[in-house]
Amino acid sequence: MSIRSKIEALKETVPSNVKIVAVSKFHSNEEIMEAYNAGQRLFGESRVQELVQKQQELPKDIEWHFIGNLQRNKVKQIAPFVTLIHSLDSERLMREIEKQGCANNRVIPCLLQIHIADEDTKSGFSPEECRKFLSEGRWRECRHVKISGLMGMATFTEDEKKVKNEFDKLKSLFDEFKDLHFKDDADFKEVSMGMTGDYPLAIESGSTIVRIGTLIFGSR
Ligand SMILES: *Cc1c(COP(=O)(O)O)cnc(C)c1O
Repeated sequence: MSIRSKIEALKETVPSNVKIVAVSKFHSNEEIMEAYNAGQRLFGESRVQELVQKQQELPKDIEWHFIGNLQRNKVKQIAPFVTLIHSLDSERLMREIEKQGCANNRVIPCLLQIHIADEDTKSGFSPEECRKFLSEGRWRECRHVKISGLMGMATFTEDEKKVKNEFDKLKSLFDEFKDLHFKDDADFKEVSMGMTGDYPLAIESGSTIVRIGTLIFGSR
């Protein structure tokens, strides 16, 4: 199947209010252009250098999302153009995004990444850390960072019950934070969850953004 037909088939299974980010990491400009020519405009990358290069070479109406672990010293390179950072997971990173947003005279939309899986990784707030981060309230001082929702990755397992449970947990955390801190903030609205292997479950749990790589572009 061509990339175009894979995107068309995918759109049939994703409700129109759920955004599809085509995760193009490790895939070529030619492949990205195939998706672009099929109407896809949202793309996600997880490495700064690769993202910067693709952004320079590809059409300027592409909206680039950064979905990977983000080092503070690299924020500067993506700050001029990134449309959504999915991986804000510390106060120090927020401060740097604030600084670079300010320098570029932009407000940079960001999602708080939450660690919902069993697997040990260094990225993501724990739910408890995120509660603390939000109630301390210093994020309100960052005028160039717009906290727009949450992002999470489920455990890589065949156990659908477990995966569904983790997605439900992320959605209820979103509801809790919306109620406590973002009641009057229409921009806090995104729950980024679901990848090739688990996006139908994520949508059932209330995902608003799915991040799909393999299903569109094939394996990396
Ligand atoms: C690579 C990646 C994806 C896409 O994964 P697929 O299984 O290829 O759909 C989604 N989210 C993040 C954070 C990723 O790094």
